[in-house]
This record gives sequence, structure tokens and C-alpha cells, in this order.
Amino acid sequence: MVKSTVLLDFSLKKNISEATLLVFAGSPTTSCLRDPLQVHRPSVFGSIPSSGSLLCVTVAPQVLLYACAVVAGVEFADFGTGVYHFSVDNYGSAQTPIVGSQIEAFQGHHEEPWTITYRDFCNNCFPTCIATMPFLLGFELFCPSPVVLLWAIVACAGIAFCQEFHKWSHTLRSQCHPVINWLQDRGILVHRSAHLRHHKPPFETNYCIVTGHMNPILDRRSRRKNAVRRGWKVDMKCRFRDEGEIER
Ligand SMILES: [Zn+2]
Ligand SMILES: [Zn+2]
Repeated sequence: MVKSTVLLDFSLKKNISEATLLVFAGSPTTSCLRDPLQVHRPSVFGSIPSSGSLLCVTVAPQVLLYACAVVAGVEFADFGTGVYHFSVDNYGSAQTPIVGSQIEAFQGHHEEPWTITYRDFCNNCFPTCIATMPFLLGFELFCPSPVVLLWAIVACAGIAFCQEFHKWSHTLRSQCHPVINWLQDRGILVHRSAHLRHHKPPFETNYCIVTGHMNPILDRRSRRKNAVRRGWKVDMKCRFRDEGEIER
């Protein structure tokens, strides 16, 4: 009872039940539990990790889902730009309906690759921004899922700004912002060494211009397609480049 009296002298004595005091009095842990604050500390500090783990269990799947949507959007953009770049580099001409100017620009880029580094941001990206706008609008108006919407926004942004990433892959390291160099070195943006392989014989690889991650997949397909075309005696533009007789 002496120990109980000592405990009841604390300002927080009202918060401690008599039953608790009786249990603690005389027990081996009495000394460390005399301070009522210490009585509550285990439950308070114990609740933090349990709340944290509960938060993780609740939020982690959502965070993971949104992270997957971002990665999928970026890689979709990379693959999409690769397919489009392959098509306009190898087929058609300035006279092709709708995409003639794009074909002319992409095929002309192989004759003077450095000129892209002189294009300002708006001049470089406006065609792809216009092309992705209807898709963005469609997703924003009709897509109820935030995860799908996030994927669509990232994918459209990747495609819209792909020519700027392409430009950075042609720009000297010393002339790029350190953040761009850092992103390229980490493989988050297409690296200049990876893209420069696109401008070297046999001119049939490394078409992707966002991250470059999809190049191995697309390169296998483009090589196979080239082989089929050659078998059909249909010459592709990349073949002319390989033979040093670029035609447009
Ligand atoms: Zn090209
Ligand atoms: Zn290029």
C-alpha cells in the first residue's frame, strides 16, 4: 500500500486504476512502472509500428499500383515512339498523305542529325503534342479509373516530349543540364550512346527515343521485318543508308 500511495501522489494518478496498482505493487517490474508515464509508453510506442504497418498494408498496394501505371506509361511511350520512328524512317516519303511532313523530317534527320539540337522546345515538340491531345482529352473525359488515367497521362507526355528526349541524346554532355545527364546515366532517359547506334550501320536498331528500354524487343522485330522485306525485294530506307546511298 505504501507503493500505491507513492504512485497516487503523481499528477496523473486519476488515470491509473487501483487494480493496476495492486498488480504492479510488489512485482519485479514495479520499480520501472512507478512513473505513470512509463505505464503508457509501451502502449503508445507500440501503437506506432502497428499503425505504420496498418498504413503500409492499406496504402502500399495503391502506391504500387500507381507506380506500375507510371512505369507502364513510360515504357508504352518508349515502345510507341520506337514503332513510329521505325515506320517513318523506312517507309513513305514527303508526298505520303497526313504524315508526309513527319516522314520527311525523320528521314532528313539522318542526313543532318545535329540540326535537331538547334530546334527550340516548342518547335521540336508541337507535332507530337498536337497528336496526343485528342487521346488525352478522350481519357480525361471518359476514363473513370485514376490508375488508367495516370497511365494515359504519362504515356501521352512521353510521346508528346519524345523529340526533346531525342534532342538531348544528340546534344553534347557538356551542353546538357546536369539533371538530364543524370537521368541519361541512370537509364531513365534514352542515353546518347544508345541513340547514336541508331545513326550507325546497319541503321536498323535503337529506334526508341524515350528511355530506350524497349529497343531490344523492337530491334529483334525490325531485323526480322527487314529480312522479310529484303526477301521480298522491297528495299527499305535503312538499307540505302547502310550502302551509303541515302534516298528520300
Ligand atoms: Zn531515325
Ligand atoms: Zn537521332
